[in-house]
Amino acid sequence: MATDTNIDLRNAYYEEFHSHGDDHKTIKMKRREFIETNTKLIMTLPFLGFGPTSIDKLMNENIYKLQIGKFQCTIYKDLMFKYLAKDYFINADKQELNEYLKKYQISEDNIPSPYISMLLQDGQKKILVDSGIGFSEKPINFRGKEFVLKGQLSKLLKEEGIDRNEITDVIVTHFHPDHIGGIYSSEKKLNYPNAKFHFHEKEWDFWHSSKSNNQPPLFKYFIEENITPLKNGNVNLIKDDFQEICEGVKTVNAEGHTAGQIGLIIGDETEQLLYISDAFLHPIHMERLDWQTNFDSDHEKAKSSRKKLLDLAYSNNMKVNAFHFDFPGMGRIDKEKQHWKWIYEK
Ligand SMILES: [Zn+2]
Repeated sequence: MATDTNIDLRNAYYEEFHSHGDDHKTIKMKRREFIETNTKLIMTLPFLGFGPTSIDKLMNENIYKLQIGKFQCTIYKDLMFKYLAKDYFINADKQELNEYLKKYQISEDNIPSPYISMLLQDGQKKILVDSGIGFSEKPINFRGKEFVLKGQLSKLLKEEGIDRNEITDVIVTHFHPDHIGGIYSSEKKLNYPNAKFHFHEKEWDFWHSSKSNNQPPLFKYFIEENITPLKNGNVNLIKDDFQEICEGVKTVNAEGHTAGQIGLIIGDETEQLLYISDAFLHPIHMERLDWQTNFDSDHEKAKSSRKKLLDLAYSNNMKVNAFHFDFPGMGRIDKEKQHWKWIYEK
């Protein structure tokens, strides 16, 4: 859904967190208020800069590792962001919503949310799932406004000794900025020059047709910079549901949030992880499948994808990773008297 609100929201997106312009003072104020209200969270905010002594803390709070089948799996926190209840739960009853916000200890104007990226390693195979928001050394000028991108994925990979030239595959679950921003550098060079890029044909078609004309301009800008140049590149266009990318990684269609969003089933018969990307933006969406977000392009499809993923995870007792839930977004699905529930798990 692209409304004026949506466009405003996208403006707010970089004004608050990535701005590099005249309104610096306002932004500083906002940051200070934010710091005062959430000291734990602020430790992870990349734009503050870190001295050498804080590196250990940074590593602990920004990197999470687990084994899934044959894959050594690492989850990186690219950036910490905050969203607003009015965008996350656009059709929620106010009183009911307040109860949920209380339960999850979040407020209407501050729903903390990480951006993540996942690396799957098995011998020579190094698969990156989503690429973060990106990093720009110099300010980017967009419609007369300047902003900088402060994603820390490339820095974290380097610190871990992962050479970006060795990434064999990049799976892009959908084309929103927080998932594609790190595909190209600000010098317009591929960050993973030897990788094959996997995404769904429906996603490509949507964003490269008139259907996306009413999408926020900033979203389109990210696509022009990070996706369109892949046109003649090393790309695997996924056409079906449950398509195998390689042994141990299978896609699952999860459209609705965007036209061609995919989730992933990772692992083998012994253990499986379901990567749900943005099918759910908050655990509350698992309890309230009917509560819509401002970011979903088709609410009915989003709702049926939510049901599909919950059923899949629950009936196969899968571990689940949710991109925007509290870092590292690991958990399981439970069902109580026909009501779905998210259980955080590390
Ligand atoms: Zn996202």
